[in-house]
Amino acid sequence: MEGFEEKRRRAVEELKAQGVIRSRKVEEAMLKVPRERFVPERLREQAYLDTPLPIGWGQTVSALHMVALMCELLELEEGQKILEVGAGCGYHAAVIAEIVAPKGSEKPGHVYTIEIVGGLVEMARRNLEATSYAGRVTVIQGDGSLGYPEEAPYDRILVTAAAPGIPPPLAQQLKPGGILVIPVGDPYTYQVLRVARKRADGSLSWEDLLSVAFVPLRGAYGYRV
Ligand code: SAM
Repeated sequence: MEGFEEKRRRAVEELKAQGVIRSRKVEEAMLKVPRERFVPERLREQAYLDTPLPIGWGQTVSALHMVALMCELLELEEGQKILEVGAGCGYHAAVIAEIVAPKGSEKPGHVYTIEIVGGLVEMARRNLEATSYAGRVTVIQGDGSLGYPEEAPYDRILVTAAAPGIPPPLAQQLKPGGILVIPVGDPYTYQVLRVARKRADGSLSWEDLLSVAFVPLRGAYGYRV
């Protein structure tokens, strides 16, 4: 039977062939992070299907292509400080950490990831600890639609749940020149994946790229679900 490493390698090859993975750094990060150790044990064999998988509490880990695409759109670099809203099982944060804070880096960045569901905060922490990402990723429990002002400003911000719009605190907590990626739109059908950049004067410009389907963002600037 094919092992996880081989399945991971084939999944990454497929994403490259589809043009989703375009950079060497996203390719290498996706090759390193063991998704099978982030999903619930009963779903391990399905870890490299390119589809969202249930992680409990009615939530999902995003499909492989969505993790790769968001990483590409964020234009991640070693040394950056990142805010993720929606830690889920911690997988996406680990992929980002591989790029911004690779092992042995002389100028390591850091990933702050906020999760509103207490059970998932524990799951993400456990998974990141078990896979040696805990020192590069901090999991915070709270409403990520308010951002995490304690560590602001951020080079990059990603939201992994569908929002009615760009939450003003996230726009504020982004550095000038920074990039924010967020699905915006109806949480029960489809959203657009919005890529916003902060100009030097503090205003945002953005582009809506493609249609996506995410679970709803809750909290102050999310949906009441
Ligand atoms: N990035 C995650 C991963 O790698 O597993 C997948 C995230 S899942 C698609 C979206 C997550 O956003 C869910 O875990 C959900 O509980 C969380 N969420 C929803 N609203 C939130 C909020 N206001 N603050 C923080 N997390 C929120």
